[in-house]
Amino acid sequence: MSMTHELQATWAASRKSWLESANHPTCDFSLQNLPFGIFSSVSQPEPRVGVALGEMIVDLAALHDAGLLTLSSAAHAGVLRQRVLNGFIALGRETWRSVRIQLSALFARETATLRDAPALRDQVLLRQDQATLHLPLDIPGYTDFYSSKEHATNVGSMFRDPAQALLPNWTEMPIGYNGRASSVVLSGTPVRRPQGQLKLPGSERPVFGPCRKLDFELETAFIIGRGNALGEPVSCAEAEDHIFGMVLLNDWSARDIQQWEYVPLGPFNAKTFATTISPWVVTLDALEPFRVAQPLQSPEPLAYLRHGAAAGVEGAERTEGAPAHAFDIALEARLLPAGAAQPEVISQTNFRYLYWTMAQQLAHHTVSGCNTRVGDLMGSGTISGPTPASSGSLLELSRNGATPLQLAGGTRSFIEDGDAITLAGWCQGAGYRVGFGLCEGEVRPA
Ligand code: CA
Repeated sequence: MSMTHELQATWAASRKSWLESANHPTCDFSLQNLPFGIFSSVSQPEPRVGVALGEMIVDLAALHDAGLLTLSSAAHAGVLRQRVLNGFIALGRETWRSVRIQLSALFARETATLRDAPALRDQVLLRQDQATLHLPLDIPGYTDFYSSKEHATNVGSMFRDPAQALLPNWTEMPIGYNGRASSVVLSGTPVRRPQGQLKLPGSERPVFGPCRKLDFELETAFIIGRGNALGEPVSCAEAEDHIFGMVLLNDWSARDIQQWEYVPLGPFNAKTFATTISPWVVTLDALEPFRVAQPLQSPEPLAYLRHGAAAGVEGAERTEGAPAHAFDIALEARLLPAGAAQPEVISQTNFRYLYWTMAQQLAHHTVSGCNTRVGDLMGSGTISGPTPASSGSLLELSRNGATPLQLAGGTRSFIEDGDAITLAGWCQGAGYRVGFGLCEGEVRPA
């Protein structure tokens, strides 16, 4: 079979695994997904590359040792034992694609190689609940965009005036800022409430103290899989070839610190204290069947922000004729109030609402000549949808505290100490999901 046919086979909804936990209709880690991450275990304490499948992790280094996984060169196998994915990612798209194709076939129900070899199976599979997951990337740079028109409109209406909620540049370019890569943490890492300057109403000077308006931002992020050289922009048409995959991202935000500091240069300490990402990187190849048209853009963007010919892989299903550079990813935020028994869903939105696409974000980021590097993290910006319940932050959900959320576990305008925020995201296929797992964090006192 050609690579294209093999790739299409990985998308077939009918392809099921002999690993039954992967076949559950709400399991994030179906045979169609095969996301990459970094894990270790008690018996193998050195972090290494794994792929999530059902309730298990596939140990790629062990699979290679057993002769069941081929890389383009034997010398490349060392990247499977590294503590981050960067080395593996740097091998290039054909390698990521080839590994997913091999795993899809090896774990398919009809393939006996591992299915009928219990001892071998035990060597290459580990239960997720017996593994420790690690931050999967060395992140050279983190950029955060502001690409949801609904979010920018909601925030602009509250902080400025509804008639001029969007500044004139907003519909001309994907607005962004350079974030802080050093404080990107893995899902599950506690987040300490930041302290900083707060300008209280009616007082002339700020006070110093713990943030009183701590918020989350429901975002996704893409990860650079192929960098560009300084001075050599990536075109919008080529941009998706530079993307390895996506994760969920919570851009924790201190709204009171932000409101006082953000003029004239944008957010600084309001955002630098923590950014949480989910542990498994879902590849663009796995997302391909969920490609959908992005929102119409008016005015038409400048030429460098226009998509070229249809992106993606030949043979992938998509709406006939429509430019399709968004993905249908259901997104959800849950809040577990301190001491409460159950988290409550407080927001439901979708990646497809984003006004600016990932390709446009990357084209804009590099059009100045700015270089990117493998592992760079590019946040989407808070993803809010068209209804109040699809707002991706508490600032919007509580209208900056004017309409607090009434939850079974307490009343909330912003996040209190001991509260936990969980983000979830998935593409819904016919009887299966391509999911991201969870992006969680509990807030600790300042
Ligand atoms: Ca953000």
